[in-house]
Amino acid sequence: IKHLSKFYKMGGETLKALDDVSFSVHHGDFVAIIGPSGSGKSTLMNMIGCLDVPDTGDYHLDGKDVFSLKNKQLADVRNQKIGFIFQSFNLLPKQTAFENVELPLIYRGLSGNERKEIVMSSLKKVGLEDRAHHRPTELSGGQQQRVAIARALAGNPPILLADEPTGALDSKTGAEVMNLMKELNKQGHTIILITHDLDIAKLAKQIIRIHDGRILAEKEAVLL
Ligand code: ATP
Ligand code: MG
Repeated sequence: IKHLSKFYKMGGETLKALDDVSFSVHHGDFVAIIGPSGSGKSTLMNMIGCLDVPDTGDYHLDGKDVFSLKNKQLADVRNQKIGFIFQSFNLLPKQTAFENVELPLIYRGLSGNERKEIVMSSLKKVGLEDRAHHRPTELSGGQQQRVAIARALAGNPPILLADEPTGALDSKTGAEVMNLMKELNKQGHTIILITHDLDIAKLAKQIIRIHDGRILAEKEAVLL
């Protein structure tokens, strides 16, 4: 990512949500992006996740010039490369764990047998194969987040992009989810995790600090 800037125009005012942001992430990295509320983390995540485009800047993902792609191609890159994990899990409340993980595979046009195999192996990766037929209300918060992680894993994306994945969890359950993320990183997934919690960020291999839309150099970061 090079020289990324994003402005929001509100009434007569322009708000600089991202200000000349540059950094690189390599395959196999586990990066935490940390910053206070309003610092631009979700705005940045939307760009990394190919959900939004900036006003200026470049983004190359595995050699593809992301911001030059048309909507359909952008969606293809997103679907092939990135699994999303959110603070609030975003599970469908009336569907079982199995059905929640299965849904993106239905959109991909996989057969019932193919789907079943992938869903059960994804639930196994997060240690929940024995909860496949539970609905979200019949699962603990940590288990719900693990179902959401299984759903993100179902497409076998090289990159997992997580926005405050432990934000809705108590610290012990949050630590368990972080251990799972570490394990997935060991298995080869690149992980980009967004958080405002330094204790969580410290569990990543690398920390990037953001403040008022700018990435802080290590020297500046020490002063905060
Ligand atoms: P939090 O930790 O609270 O989730 P954040 O670091 O994710 O914060 P962003 O959501 O990226 O922060 O917002 C960065 C800045 O851009 C904020 O000042 C916010 O008010 C502003 N902003 C975000 N989205 C929009 C939008 N769609 N329109 C206008 N301003 C926006
Ligand atoms: Mg945010």
